[in-house]
Amino acid sequence: MDNLSYWEHRAFLDEADVVIVGGGLVGLTAALYTRQLQPTARVLVLERDPLPNGASTKNAGFACFGSISELMEQEERGGTAALLGVVRARWEGLGRLRALLSDEVISYRPEGGYELFRPEDEALAATCQARIGYYNHLLAPVIGRADIFREATGQIPALGLAGVRTMLENTAEGSLDTGRLMQALLRKAWAAGVTVLHGCPVQRLEPTAGAVRVHLAGPMLEAGQVLLATNAFSRELVPALDVVPGRGQVLVTEPIPGLRLPGTFHYDKGYYYFRQVGQRVLLGGGRNLDFAAEATTAPGLTPRVQQQLERLLHDVILPGRRPRIDYRWSGVMAFGSALEPIIREVQPNLFVAVRCNGMGVALGAGSGWQAAELMSEG
Ligand SMILES: Cc1cc2nc3c(=O)[nH]c(=O)nc-3n(C[C@H](O)[C@H](O)[C@H](O)COP(=O)(O)OP(=O)(O)OC[C@H]3O[C@@H](n4cnc5c(N)ncnc54)[C@H](O)[C@@H]3O)c2cc1C
Repeated sequence: MDNLSYWEHRAFLDEADVVIVGGGLVGLTAALYTRQLQPTARVLVLERDPLPNGASTKNAGFACFGSISELMEQEERGGTAALLGVVRARWEGLGRLRALLSDEVISYRPEGGYELFRPEDEALAATCQARIGYYNHLLAPVIGRADIFREATGQIPALGLAGVRTMLENTAEGSLDTGRLMQALLRKAWAAGVTVLHGCPVQRLEPTAGAVRVHLAGPMLEAGQVLLATNAFSRELVPALDVVPGRGQVLVTEPIPGLRLPGTFHYDKGYYYFRQVGQRVLLGGGRNLDFAAEATTAPGLTPRVQQQLERLLHDVILPGRRPRIDYRWSGVMAFGSALEPIIREVQPNLFVAVRCNGMGVALGAGSGWQAAELMSEG
């Protein structure tokens, strides 16, 4: 970044009205919506890594808004009004994303999501079963129908799962192709006149009178408005934010002939999740094995989590089989003390849209929209 030409400065970096730091789902949707709401604004997205390197290209592609045990836990933590608020934000965010890119482009499949309970989860399963009616009624005004959750235990044998005693379905849950989604967002951003630069780590933000200085390794830019969309990494630039990183580890098997696992699957209160991608199984989770070790922004795989994922694969998902693992990776989510994302102006002309609490596939486009709206008013 310290060998930039006149041309590079003029064409790519100088004179941005809005600089967005972070090129994940939230940053890119905020950029697109800013172009809609402020059509004359020059919008520049600065992404640190060659590809977005937090959560948006690392996730499992569940288009989910909460299984019953998650809803119960979140309602207990934040209260009913807060729960309804975040479920609405997830559902509307997903609708916004689907409208922006189209179901075909992102391979959105409304196949349903399934929550699995082990024999030792019997008490929890019974509580969740008893709450089907309650959550169907509570969420009906948000989802638009009252038959969202239902009993699905009878379908377990057809899926070939072992060690699962109870299964509940969320009929409004879906899945999508994370890679195609992010590729489509990038293409759309460039087509809409947004400049997206990768390999541009922002080192410091400095609000000044009427603008914010953006310090890169070398050049310094100045923009009328800056949006921080750096999710788990946000405290590197604004230390006071209530954002705690949570690393998620994922693996994908070799292709498995005859595999048929339609839908998205949540296991052990959502701490594990799996689905079929092509003919392979994608499986992730295990953060709860060591919360402290996984509260990091550093990429990495640990034997403890990887071994547990493999155990789950061999014992529950593909009982008795030992498929080769073709891909392993980690990504980082952002959590905090409240359920809601943080979307606000933290200093004059410096905005943040961060903390999707692990459900940014659904929530992200709504956060991007709200941030763009806030900046258009500012
Ligand atoms: C393993 C895993 C599985 C998940 N599965 C699901 C799922 O199935 N469904 C679901 O809804 N959600 C899921 N999530 C969560 C979801 O992916 C996130 O909530 C969402 O992608 C957050 O988007 P974001 O744009 O806020 O953050 P990110 O995608 O993390 O983007 C932030 C970007 O900021 C960049 N950045 C950071 N610091 C700087 C800097 N100083 N300068 C420039 N750029 C910087 C980073 O490189 C990163 O690309 C999962 C997450 C993980 C990690």
